[in-house]
Amino acid sequence: MKCKRCAEKAIVQLRSHNTAFCKPCFVFFFQRGVERAITREAMFSHEERILVAVSGGKDSLALWDALVNLGYETEGLYLGLGIGDYSSASERKTRAFAERRGLRLRVVALDETEDGLGIPSVAAATRRPPCSACGTFKRHHFDRAALAGGFAVLATGHNLDDEAARLLGNVMHWQLPYLAKQRPVLTPTHPRFVRKVRPLYRTSELESATYAFLRGIDYVVEECPNSRGATQLVYKDLLNRLEHTMPGSKLAFLADFLSRGSPLFATAPEAADLGECERCGMPSAGEICGYCRLVAEVGRRRAQAVAHS
Ligand code: SF4
Ligand SMILES: [Zn+2]
Ligand SMILES: [Zn+2]
Repeated sequence: MKCKRCAEKAIVQLRSHNTAFCKPCFVFFFQRGVERAITREAMFSHEERILVAVSGGKDSLALWDALVNLGYETEGLYLGLGIGDYSSASERKTRAFAERRGLRLRVVALDETEDGLGIPSVAAATRRPPCSACGTFKRHHFDRAALAGGFAVLATGHNLDDEAARLLGNVMHWQLPYLAKQRPVLTPTHPRFVRKVRPLYRTSELESATYAFLRGIDYVVEECPNSRGATQLVYKDLLNRLEHTMPGSKLAFLADFLSRGSPLFATAPEAADLGECERCGMPSAGEICGYCRLVAEVGRRRAQAVAHS
């Protein structure tokens, strides 16, 4: 099998694109794909500062590596969720990645913030699934860090597999408001929010894993223990089976939705005008934002537990 770009021996075959590449040409293909996604969706420019949310996994580190190589001005943001060995390993790998390349990394450890709450403590106190608490905490701290650092954009490593699985889940349950918001660029709905972008939305998990391997990126291979049994994994598995039989179907599903389906949902009611949370000052539809409500609930539940003990 020969590289489709230079005719050297290919080491990667991409059935979804009906192509194959040698190592340098795959690296070029990956970075060019990221650049094209950024341009196609007008995500950001070379004049803007980009905060890259990195988890220590292959996608976010591959994204950061590609953005740096494409000449963008970036800083990393690592959020320590307090999830035992998984969080320790992912923080170690993220710090090592940034140090080796001389990149600036901001680290926010949830246990050490003023609220002092890691995800396991929130889940235990409120008896909510960890991922639901995690989503609220991540959004809040990503928004806060981007605002505090004066960044124009927050980039995350969501890849094609994530986006296609999310789309399938939203279609399965006809989640109209979520379908309206499923775009690779979310423009801010309040001056204290920044633009949120997903430059890997057309890049498959296989491609980012291959890129990370070929670039010598040492990423955390283990998944978060809380992801076991997640519904999204069922959707990913279904889409992988479809992809195996019909290469390219994942990208077609998402890309066709974005070009032809998404405009049909754009008329779904937008969120109400946002004010600012009385407790933390971040944008909120009510007096208190979802994050602060969750923190208050933890306090209440803990007080009740002490009172009943
Ligand atoms: S699997 Fe759940 S708890 Fe773990 S990082 Fe993802 S959202 Fe957070
Ligand atoms: Zn080549
Ligand atoms: Zn708040």
